[in-house]
Amino acid sequence: MNAPMNPAANLSDDAAFRSEVADWMRTHLSGRFAQLRHRGGPGDEAFEPTLRKDWERELAAGGWTCVGWPRAHGGRELSIARQVIFYEEYARAGGPGRMGHIGEGLIGPTLVKYGNAAQQARFLPAIVAGREYWAQGYSEPNAGSDLANVQTRCTRQADGSWRVTGQKIWTSLAQESDWIFVVARSEPGSKGNKGLSFLLLPLAQSGIQIRPIRQLNGGAEFNEVFFDEAIADSDALVGAPGEGWKIAMALLEIERGVSTLGQQMHFAHEFSCVIAAAKAFGCDRDPSIRDRIARAATGLRTMRYNALRMLAGDALSLGREALIYKYFWSNWHRDLGRLAMDVLGSAGDLPSDDPLIRPLQQLFFFSRADTIYGGTNEIQLNLIAERGLGMPREPRPAA
Ligand SMILES: Cc1cc2nc3c(=O)[nH]c(=O)nc-3n(C[C@H](O)[C@H](O)[C@H](O)COP(=O)(O)OP(=O)(O)OC[C@H]3O[C@@H](n4cnc5c(N)ncnc54)[C@H](O)[C@@H]3O)c2cc1C
Repeated sequence: MNAPMNPAANLSDDAAFRSEVADWMRTHLSGRFAQLRHRGGPGDEAFEPTLRKDWERELAAGGWTCVGWPRAHGGRELSIARQVIFYEEYARAGGPGRMGHIGEGLIGPTLVKYGNAAQQARFLPAIVAGREYWAQGYSEPNAGSDLANVQTRCTRQADGSWRVTGQKIWTSLAQESDWIFVVARSEPGSKGNKGLSFLLLPLAQSGIQIRPIRQLNGGAEFNEVFFDEAIADSDALVGAPGEGWKIAMALLEIERGVSTLGQQMHFAHEFSCVIAAAKAFGCDRDPSIRDRIARAATGLRTMRYNALRMLAGDALSLGREALIYKYFWSNWHRDLGRLAMDVLGSAGDLPSDDPLIRPLQQLFFFSRADTIYGGTNEIQLNLIAERGLGMPREPRPAA
């Protein structure tokens, strides 16, 4: 986007844009969608998936999906500052957790950068319109942090199509998705990050079985996905054969950075719920709770400025600042979960449907996962040490 000629004019444009988003949300997150307010976020993903897909289409009709994507691919090409405003107003209005997050936030931007014209034409419009939903098929029972140990195999057939055999695990919302992207081994006998390819497969086919994993909180947000000669068509390969690692890492960078912008705005809402609970449960005068609330407020502000600094460049590729971002937000959020439970005291110990208590219990449970998915704490610290500080690389098995 062009640099503003007149900063003052730009500020008032921003204010006008802010009220445009707020007005739209007020008008549209109403009627049958009103029950979605503040629902469907982390730990609550299984809430009303069908209605939330309708909500995605409502957003799409208003032009509010994929707001940072290039116009050529159906986006609004909003500047980072405008995207922040959009997400702030979305969260302020109680906009629900986005069913389209993996399509809009992960595979879409990856296809914008690495997909061919046919793939972009086939997949991007359906993501923008909220018609198709995606799952991420990276992790396997023996390939989590060590993703390069992927054992799922893919073989090219004479007609150019692919057959995929193996198992993925922890696949979020596969049961609600139409497509899955997988990293699979295309060169037999290859090891480590060599010989991998990145493929796109429809989930509704006889070669794919999805089995839910029941969690401690009763939900089943993620799944095991089994592939038995599953079919991917001849145009399903992103990049060249053997380039799977490069594509997979580019997508992970997006996952650890720009795609969390919206999530951060949701944190502000959760933080306000913790404060409300502290007042309701009478611990807002407790000096140690007050101290932790003040620290959380500082962390929230720090996160916002770091996100702006990080995203000031190209919204689809991230700079060095991004290395600390995932580590910072996930630990901040996990600590907020602990604070929430301390604020609730014994009232938080039993399952509850109280609207003041239940969301904070969910926050506590789910925030335990934040320091695991998208790269565990230990892996993030390795990345900071090696890529950010130039320290010696951790020994790795020979490829
Ligand atoms: C809520 C949630 C949703 C998820 N959704 C998806 C999804 O949709 N798709 C998908 O593909 N995956 C998904 N995952 C999986 C996630 O990416 C993996 O859990 C993560 O990569 C860690 O892998 P792992 O569970 O196999 O743990 P492991 O890799 O076995 O790690 C176990 C422990 O060992 C430590 N460790 C491992 N290697 C090192 C090292 N080199 N140095 C120091 N410590 C190390 C780790 O930090 C961790 O503490 C999800 C996970 C969660 C929790």
